[in-house]
Amino acid sequence: MALNRRVMIELARAIEERRAALATEIRREVARARNEPFEEVAGAVHDAGDEALADLVADVDNAEVTRDLAELRELEAARGRIADGSYGVCADCGADIPVARLRAQPAAPRCIACQQRHEKTFRA
Ligand SMILES: [Zn+2]
Repeated sequence: MALNRRVMIELARAIEERRAALATEIRREVARARNEPFEEVAGAVHDAGDEALADLVADVDNAEVTRDLAELRELEAARGRIADGSYGVCADCGADIPVARLRAQPAAPRCIACQQRHEKTFRA
């Protein structure tokens, strides 16, 4: 791994902060979609992890929630890569992902070239 420890900590913190913000945002959107008070929705999954959050939104058909949940999963995947030491390495070509890209998008799984190729390939 090419990232030094200081940058690693900075990016890991950015991922955690984004996760927390997204989790709150999702609960707020679910509350709005169901016409329930935010406190009630937040309280229901207070100690639970992202699994419970996924259950919570399962019956909410809302584009915003779907998009936020997808981003949350990307952040989850990034945490997994931090844990197994593969973070910061492009999933497709194996090159180091530039730090500037990771700072802008801490959950990025690919370098820019591979991401563009990926999007071209999988665009519907
Ligand atoms: Zn690549």
